[in-house]
Amino acid sequence: MQHSRRVAVIGAGGAGLISARELSREGHQVVVFERNNQIGGVWVYSPEIESDPLGLDPNRTRIHSSLYKSLRTNIPRELMGVRDFPFVPREGEDRDPRRFPSHKEVLKYLEDFANEFGICKLVRFRTEVVFAGMEKLGEWRVEFRCENGDVDYDIFDAVVVCVGNFSQPRIAEIPGWPGEQVHSHNYRDPEPFRGKVVVLIGYASSGGDISQELIGVAKEIHIACRSAKTEPLDEESIISNVSFHPMIESVRKDGTVVFQDGCIVSADVILHCTGYKYNFPFLETNGTVTVDDNRVGPLFKHVFPPALAPGLSFVGLPFKVVPFVISQLQSNWIAGVLSNRIALPSKEEMLADVKAFYEELEALGKPKHRTHKLGGYMPAYCNWLAATCGCPPYEEWRKEMFVATDVNRMVNLESYRDDWHDDELIHQAYEEFSKYTT
Ligand code: FAD
Repeated sequence: MQHSRRVAVIGAGGAGLISARELSREGHQVVVFERNNQIGGVWVYSPEIESDPLGLDPNRTRIHSSLYKSLRTNIPRELMGVRDFPFVPREGEDRDPRRFPSHKEVLKYLEDFANEFGICKLVRFRTEVVFAGMEKLGEWRVEFRCENGDVDYDIFDAVVVCVGNFSQPRIAEIPGWPGEQVHSHNYRDPEPFRGKVVVLIGYASSGGDISQELIGVAKEIHIACRSAKTEPLDEESIISNVSFHPMIESVRKDGTVVFQDGCIVSADVILHCTGYKYNFPFLETNGTVTVDDNRVGPLFKHVFPPALAPGLSFVGLPFKVVPFVISQLQSNWIAGVLSNRIALPSKEEMLADVKAFYEELEALGKPKHRTHKLGGYMPAYCNWLAATCGCPPYEEWRKEMFVATDVNRMVNLESYRDDWHDDELIHQAYEEFSKYTT
């Protein structure tokens, strides 16, 4: 027999909204807790930055979003939208029809999604969850601070954690560096770096975009990334005022930075584009779930901690993925497990699966902090979830478009958002979307 449960969803970003919809349509009673005054999570841009630009001070003023002003998506809109509510261009003066639109358009998409499925009425805004823990078997106590500062609580059958993974900076430790340091979480535009010599650490999505913006504004940009060569730079490695180096060897009190290629630079500022840490300060599991070197675990398929399943689950942990589609499949799974439509393996079987997964990562030489990085494994993961939930398999065009975008970005970092070669895949995507848009 199917059950309807009382479920607390923490966070009303993309993952929380998508979870609320999947849980509601399964028949569960959902309350979404959101500390902000609006939905959208990371897509709610703020021009403000935190009081500690490196993000180390636990008492700093906090800003949730990590967006920079000029940010356009790094994934095409055809891939970003959930399967049955595609992210297609919409009419309207303030809409951005581009294939890789600005961050404002993604927020509008999430607002359209929430309106279409009546999600906002489930959300308690300006309500921060300060504690979530199992009170007794099958009962979860959720304590939350209301807008007036009072702390109240409620009891739920299950808690779904959807608090996002791109808010708590992860930095490169550089002991002894006397100069300015900023994490990309607190980068909004290139102006503060005008005329400066910038050392930028990390060259993934944010590092790539930010370095492009700094060209022509900063005096020099020195990018430290693991994939750079360790030999001294030759003429050809110097593009305009940008140089690539391997990692930093040491720093000196006079503000010079020594790279592993022997290059010495007198720098003004170090900009960390080094990613983020998982952080669940409100969660009490008596050590059952830990964050160890950015591995949240043990989690069965990145979602359920075997000892606390199905009462506790996480949506949206995987990275180097297409987040909304994954969130939809994960939430459909959680909703189905909570209603008894889908059976979970036994606790022992789930733990054995997690153990085998960790051993596989170790055998491949992957460090713990890459546990949730899916990349090329994403289609297989989505197909596993889809099969478990009884959903259609992950579409081939999605798989190919993800790879095509990645390759295009690597070769054409400056222009991949406006110049691409996968029109046939776009055609296939829109054929698929016509099921939902006509
Ligand atoms: P979030 O959007 O971060 O939402 C979490 C929500 O939880 C927030 O609203 C927060 O206020 C709330 N919250 C947190 N703690 C509490 C608490 N204790 N109590 C109550 N509420 C709480 N994805 C793409 O698909 N395409 C892109 O191009 C892309 N570009 C990106 C660029 C940058 C710079 C960054 C940082 C991310 C990008 N992403 C992109 C990934 C993006 O994070 C996901 O698209 C997605 O929006 C994540 O949704 P989420 O709900 O998991 O997290």
